[in-house]
Amino acid sequence: MGECWQNAVVVYVVGQNPTLSAINQYVAANWSLLEEPKIYKHEEGFFLVKLNNREERDKILYSGPHLFYGKPMIIKNWSANFNFHEEILKVIPIWVKFPNLPLKCWGEDSLSRIGSVLGVPLYADECTSKCLRVSFARVLIEIDVTQDLVKEIEVEDPYGVVFKQKVSFDWLPPFCKKCQKVGHNCGNQSQVKGPEKVVQ
Ligand SMILES: [Zn+2]
Repeated sequence: MGECWQNAVVVYVVGQNPTLSAINQYVAANWSLLEEPKIYKHEEGFFLVKLNNREERDKILYSGPHLFYGKPMIIKNWSANFNFHEEILKVIPIWVKFPNLPLKCWGEDSLSRIGSVLGVPLYADECTSKCLRVSFARVLIEIDVTQDLVKEIEVEDPYGVVFKQKVSFDWLPPFCKKCQKVGHNCGNQSQVKGPEKVVQ
């Protein structure tokens, strides 16, 4: 059964419940795919988008953050044991920046070691992996947003020197500590908003 879903992604719009046709239109207009993907709406409020191959899937997963007409859109790899409540509403891929990360730590191994302090590192953006930019490294990391977010981590560089590294996020979902739910915040109803730069 897993076979035919192997290139599928789960799509969830935070703070809105779009119709299937709205999502179809959005995908056709914004994802520039060669073939139209099959899209299904799940009654729990998320969508399954069946992409035609792995390249397309990765292209969509690793671009972003994504916005659906101003609302943040979470896009995640579908897996055989996908669980909407445990994953989309809890563990979310988030672009993380490491400002002024020393260049000696930009190797794939270092980045994934640093990223795993925060969660499960998925991907470094092209400017990071090809060293096209030097002011910050940017990595997509699956983070459990129900936990307190880490703003600074201790890193040991390849020469054994330990230093403090700042962490910043392109966008964070609103998370309600009271209801333990992503998508709103009882303490602050105005928190649903698009990606923004968090300057620390
Ligand atoms: Zn709440």
